[in-house]
Amino acid sequence: MKLKSIREVKKLKGKKVLLRVAYDVPLKKSGQGWKVSDDRRITETIPTINYLLKNSCKIVILSWLSRPDGKVVEKYKMDPVAKTLSKLINQPVKKLDDCVGPKVFSKIEAMESGEILMLENVRFYPEEMAENKMFSALLVHGLDLICFDAFGHAHRVHSSTTGITKLIPTYAGFLLDKEIKALSRISKKPKRPLVIVLGGAKISDKINTLKKLVKIADKVLIGGGLANVFLKALRVPIGNSFIEDVFVDKARRKKVNYVTLARKIYKRNKSKIVLPVDLVAGNKIDKHSLVEVVDFTDKDAINQRWKFLDIGPKTIKNYQEHIKTAKTIFFNGPMGVFEVDKFSNGTKKISQAVAKSSATTVIGGGDTEIVASKYRLEKKFNHISTGGGASMEFLAGKELPALKHIKK
Ligand code: AMP
Repeated sequence: MKLKSIREVKKLKGKKVLLRVAYDVPLKKSGQGWKVSDDRRITETIPTINYLLKNSCKIVILSWLSRPDGKVVEKYKMDPVAKTLSKLINQPVKKLDDCVGPKVFSKIEAMESGEILMLENVRFYPEEMAENKMFSALLVHGLDLICFDAFGHAHRVHSSTTGITKLIPTYAGFLLDKEIKALSRISKKPKRPLVIVLGGAKISDKINTLKKLVKIADKVLIGGGLANVFLKALRVPIGNSFIEDVFVDKARRKKVNYVTLARKIYKRNKSKIVLPVDLVAGNKIDKHSLVEVVDFTDKDAINQRWKFLDIGPKTIKNYQEHIKTAKTIFFNGPMGVFEVDKFSNGTKKISQAVAKSSATTVIGGGDTEIVASKYRLEKKFNHISTGGGASMEFLAGKELPALKHIKK
């Protein structure tokens, strides 16, 4: 997919640019207020900001933060984000208390070249959540063009994504471009073998990507709660393990049975899908849990009240061997409940193996980002996506709706 880049704008000098970013950052308490606890999604956009500054643009930054559900929520105001950005670029970033309205419009009107304004969280307005024409028009009022760098929000049909991009010329920022290029290295002509490592809890989030990736991958290594669904499909007793086996799709009024689906996928791709041969079980998800390694050669070994919470030593070894042979790797989702030390070994060993590999390595966002930072591996991957949901949808072959008007 080729995008219209911000570099292609001929008369960029002095333009009023709406910079749409995905500053959906984690926060932590700091005194009476909040501060940004991980600034990666902000730092990743700095090359775009610097380019706009070099071209003396007037930059108006827009994002949402978390899910305030159309109401003003003190915790989700953009002030700590503006503060962090200001520190990172060593320049004032003026934060406004709204994202539309006469006060905002007059501030934008009066901007000087090289000035940066940050608008308030756009999700404070209920009009944001579905595409609302009037609201979208207000968001771009007085602005010349959009520089879209919000990869992590590009899979959403919202006023500030698809809505605004229909209204004024829109170009891709450098982060968006980098994300699409990195993910395309997985989905288009990857260097082989292509090994996919998929974990995490919710199969509903990953099933479409899994279906698509299994077609192009050489091996798909499955861990985490996802493995439980496949094991149940193969009639391995999983005791009291977490499993998302049936999903009720209210919109389509139908039930999706993931166990049946997993059985079908497995049968069609037996030679590609690799499942755990042993798992670490516990009686509860905390540091006081009893722990036992369960080997599937003994099907009676699982105590019905126990849960599978990590991949076992034989599985780790097997997955490490596959990772060693890979030329391209995509890794998304932990191999177990890595938040609890007793169940973190699989995730730690597998993420380290991916990091050590000389293959092209791309890892998904969300929890995989947290895994990378927990084991201090951030610099060891070729690319860490800033958008979990967006990267999974892109790899599932879906068009990201916000990119429709940015495509060449
Ligand atoms: P996801 O958002 O679907 O990638 O899921 C991430 C979460 O999956 C993490 O919080 C893990 O603790 C959790 N997880 C991974 N493996 C398991 C498992 N075997 N049982 C329950 N939760 C798991």
